[in-house]
Amino acid sequence: MIRFQNQLFAGCNAEYSKARYVIFGVPYDGTTTFRSGTRNGPRSIREMSYNFETYLPSYDLDLTELPIIDLGDIDITVTPEDVVTQVQEATQDIVRDTKIPVMLGGEHSITIGSVRAVKPDCYIVCDAHLDLREEFRGTIYNHGCTTRRVYDEGIKDIIIIGARSGTKDQFEFARSLRLFTADEIKKHGLANVLSKVKGLIKGKRVYLSIDADVIDCCLTPGLGTPEPFGLTPWDISDIIGVVAPQSIAFDYVEVSPFDSGQTATVASQMVREFIAAHWKGT
Ligand code: MN
Ligand code: MN
Repeated sequence: MIRFQNQLFAGCNAEYSKARYVIFGVPYDGTTTFRSGTRNGPRSIREMSYNFETYLPSYDLDLTELPIIDLGDIDITVTPEDVVTQVQEATQDIVRDTKIPVMLGGEHSITIGSVRAVKPDCYIVCDAHLDLREEFRGTIYNHGCTTRRVYDEGIKDIIIIGARSGTKDQFEFARSLRLFTADEIKKHGLANVLSKVKGLIKGKRVYLSIDADVIDCCLTPGLGTPEPFGLTPWDISDIIGVVAPQSIAFDYVEVSPFDSGQTATVASQMVREFIAAHWKGT
């Protein structure tokens, strides 16, 4: 039969009932503060997924042989609290069916809904920003408040990796959590940090959230709030390799694809690697 290329993530052909991994997109950028455009993230991440072979040599796995389904995008509303609720409901269904949610953003505020549904023991976020604001520009669901909302959900076991932007107050707060800044990773080496992270997450159910701007904006410039002196795609690949086997949910957010596709291409590959690493590791 002739194969039809559609807008869903490449190689994800399972039926829902048989799927272990459920990809969905949330094309929302209603609270973005500097540059909008993350609403185009999910479409662009999927589009770039057709650039790759479905076989991942580093994991010796072919995505077409794994039980993955892409449900498409949530038909989102406008106000951030409603979108958070929509994400929460969608994620609750997936978790109830004992599947792993893999969410494509969209801005970072959507993670609040997904974390609420998943209720992890530990939240790991890779982000240039601390996202610890109590409120920003009239809403507590601004994308600059995500990690703070996760904390308010009662998840106090939070590990922030790659941060290099935030107010003095936010940095003081972050120091009471687990913070590995981009500077510290540069100084001590990622391998060193990852061996610490491994110890911290042992036996825990982890939620892994990747904000695309954790990567240096000179490498992946398709970002609403770009920051230089960040991590590399290699670093994120290594973090995923260590954290994915213990993760019960994953998201990749804040891709704003007005670049030449670098940011969405990396995001797409990281989604593939998360699934492969989780499959291999569990
Ligand atoms: Mn963020
Ligand atoms: Mn960020």
